[in-house]
Amino acid sequence: MINADFHTHSSFSTDSEAEPESMIQQAIALGLKTYCFTDHMDYVFPEGEEFLFDPKEYFETLTALRRKYRGQIDIRIGVELGLRDEPDIRDEAQRLCKDLTDNNPFDFVIGSTHVIAHFDPYNREYWKDRSAEDIVRMYFESVLYSVCHYDCFHVYGHLDYILRYLPEGVTVDITKFEPLIDQILTELIARGKGIEVNTSRLARGSVMNPSPKILARYRELGGTILTIGSDAHRPDRIAGAFAEAEAILKELGFKEYTVFRKGKPSFRRL
Ligand SMILES: [Zn+2]
Ligand SMILES: [Zn+2]
Repeated sequence: MINADFHTHSSFSTDSEAEPESMIQQAIALGLKTYCFTDHMDYVFPEGEEFLFDPKEYFETLTALRRKYRGQIDIRIGVELGLRDEPDIRDEAQRLCKDLTDNNPFDFVIGSTHVIAHFDPYNREYWKDRSAEDIVRMYFESVLYSVCHYDCFHVYGHLDYILRYLPEGVTVDITKFEPLIDQILTELIARGKGIEVNTSRLARGSVMNPSPKILARYRELGGTILTIGSDAHRPDRIAGAFAEAEAILKELGFKEYTVFRKGKPSFRRL
């Protein structure tokens, strides 16, 4: 049984209203052994939106909760960092990310691409003037840049995230991007970094991110570091579809998944 959720949000994230303690209580009720908070930090986010928290307050709050629930569940303190590659802001983004992770004792850091060429693909407007294929290519190129230029993360989040936001009725031939995805996976493995299995969409009747096909390729290329996360933004989403994800991973030949403490990976049997 997967007993660790390594991608979760709380009210420290702009897009969640869940009290951190309510998340912990639900994680305990579900029988999880380990629970990692990974609230959003997306520096220089476009359109005046803010996905930032105060690290001092974050650590104070979560460290107190970790102490309070010791013996019931092992709380880890992580972050989901938005990584950026736009030439005009990437130096600043890299500096801010490095400062954050150098100066705060995170157990775990997810690197994610949420913004491409200064736009949030969540916003439907941006899909109107570009072909879906161009956007998907830009996304994977941005991921490759971040993998090669940021050293502040442990696993890459929801690797094929962009496919979540394809406009209705639009399909993209993902096989066209296989060489690019191979390059991303190879660079991650060479740098001692991993990927996550994000079950958020699987829990809603869709697929997991990345797809089993990408996960199979990751394993084939020698990838071993694999964390599991629900991306829950409220208590009832914690550990969503973990049993299904476990069955898929076993079928693909994975025998272990990864947890992090103080930036160091360890492995648990699936
Ligand atoms: Zn994310
Ligand atoms: Zn997330």
